[in-house]
Amino acid sequence: MSHNVVIKDVEKKYGDFIAIRDLSLDIKKGEFFTLLGPSGCGKTTLLRMIAGFNSIEDGQILFGDKVINKVEAHKRDIGMVFQNYAIFPHLTVYENVAYGLKAKKVPKNEIASRVEKALELVQIAQLKDRKPSELSGGQQQRVALARAFVIEPGILLMDEPLSNLDAKLRVQMRTVIRKLQKTVGITTIYVTHDQEEALAISDRIAIMKSGDIMQVGRPEEIYKKPANIFVAGFIGTSNFINGEITKVLPNNTAEVRFGNDSTFIAPIKKDYTGKVIISARPEQLIFSDEGIQGKITISTFLGDFVNYEIEIDNGQTIELNEYTKDTDTVKANGEKVRISFNPSKIGLYNADTEEALSW
Ligand code: ATP
Repeated sequence: MSHNVVIKDVEKKYGDFIAIRDLSLDIKKGEFFTLLGPSGCGKTTLLRMIAGFNSIEDGQILFGDKVINKVEAHKRDIGMVFQNYAIFPHLTVYENVAYGLKAKKVPKNEIASRVEKALELVQIAQLKDRKPSELSGGQQQRVALARAFVIEPGILLMDEPLSNLDAKLRVQMRTVIRKLQKTVGITTIYVTHDQEEALAISDRIAIMKSGDIMQVGRPEEIYKKPANIFVAGFIGTSNFINGEITKVLPNNTAEVRFGNDSTFIAPIKKDYTGKVIISARPEQLIFSDEGIQGKITISTFLGDFVNYEIEIDNGQTIELNEYTKDTDTVKANGEKVRISFNPSKIGLYNADTEEALSW
């Protein structure tokens, strides 16, 4: 039976260092939930607290309505997949997957049918008699996956399970994991520092920084409406341009001034005048007859789009992506251009607090 996971005001200290600070999350039953953040932000620490390998200094973690703070790791009803596979080298694929079921004293005939089914789900049934040394990295990771969910744990925890695989295999395996998770319907908490992987695989993502949660949301929400400058910079690419809100106008709009006296009117959710940071994704900027003046410094043809680096009139360098389906020409270095954007699509952030004003 899959559980929801509630994390309430938890804290983790290593000596005097606070690795996790007053952190709360509500993970739904059957959800694919990802902890995403740069190296050292505390993702693994939090996952290990959920698993029972790290103590919890303050707060509570609940599986369903059961507080598990003091429950030993092996009694927490979890499956785990790590980046180094952690499968037994001396056992065959079949024996590796059967291991947890034997330990749970599941009857022999039931073990056989459950292992066969698990191996079929991860598409390695034909390899069941091989030893791990006779498998590729991707196949070994499939064994680790099958072994984790064959015991039908309430929660599946995965810590960077794909980071030892090459780029192409990572993309293939994340689809395998996603499909498997949806087929089995198991609540999954997944750790990665790879933002593209997180966007591709998750129902919801928590973005972490220095032991704090910066934002929780669906991949599209996080990409389109980053809550602060950190998230806007961490997920995808964002251009940050200095500006100022000079006037709050009726109907939740404001006048924004930037560069050499350019202005535009944009929607805002919070009344504010003062310094702002304008955040625009490269694909939100377009070449136009009017708008910010600039000069192409580098153009990079990337097949489906051309990425331009452009020095704009206030001296900042920004990136613009132009899709090749929309144009037949690639602009040359040094070419003078003008750039505009749809003011209702870009993000405005308070320059002091770095929090979003637009949503
Ligand atoms: P990565 O992506 O590099 O694995 P992470 O987000 O998983 O990073 P953690 O491993 O959770 O980060 O580490 C969070 C912080 O806690 C880091 O600053 C790390 O140096 C510190 N830390 C982790 N484990 C210990 C430990 N056993 N003792 C002291 N400090 C630790």
